[in-house]
Amino acid sequence: MRSAPLVALLLVGCGVDPAGLSMRVPRQDEAVRAIWIDAYRRGEEPPAINWVTGEALNCTQPESGRPGFYALTIDGYRCLGGVTYVPTEVAVAWSAESTFCTSTLAHEFKHAAHAWDGVFDPRHERADWAEVPLVNEYLASLGLCE
Ligand SMILES: [Zn+2]
Repeated sequence: MRSAPLVALLLVGCGVDPAGLSMRVPRQDEAVRAIWIDAYRRGEEPPAINWVTGEALNCTQPESGRPGFYALTIDGYRCLGGVTYVPTEVAVAWSAESTFCTSTLAHEFKHAAHAWDGVFDPRHERADWAEVPLVNEYLASLGLCE
């Protein structure tokens, strides 16, 4: 019973506002199906997407130079383009310049798939991370990255 308050504290502390869960991005359902079902061949319900937008994008991701948001990782707070704490929901940065390919959607869905499989790989050490760029190429081939 000691872990429940800690989990609640971590979720509150992550700074991801759940308001983005009600937002819809054009062609979202197509992108979700392409990633979760076509590419990752998952049978579970796809994760809900909490889009992080507007003023909530308050930092620049060091690797990509794209707008991001601070969230708690195992290495402390970092400016991220997305974060996944549970298998059923991902948070993904979305700005005016975003496409599904430049967003972290395929990356976060990979974390969610790992979570369903009981895998915890927050530092991206598994070989299957190599699939993510290929999934983004697949999304582009479907015209989902324009
Ligand atoms: Zn990651």
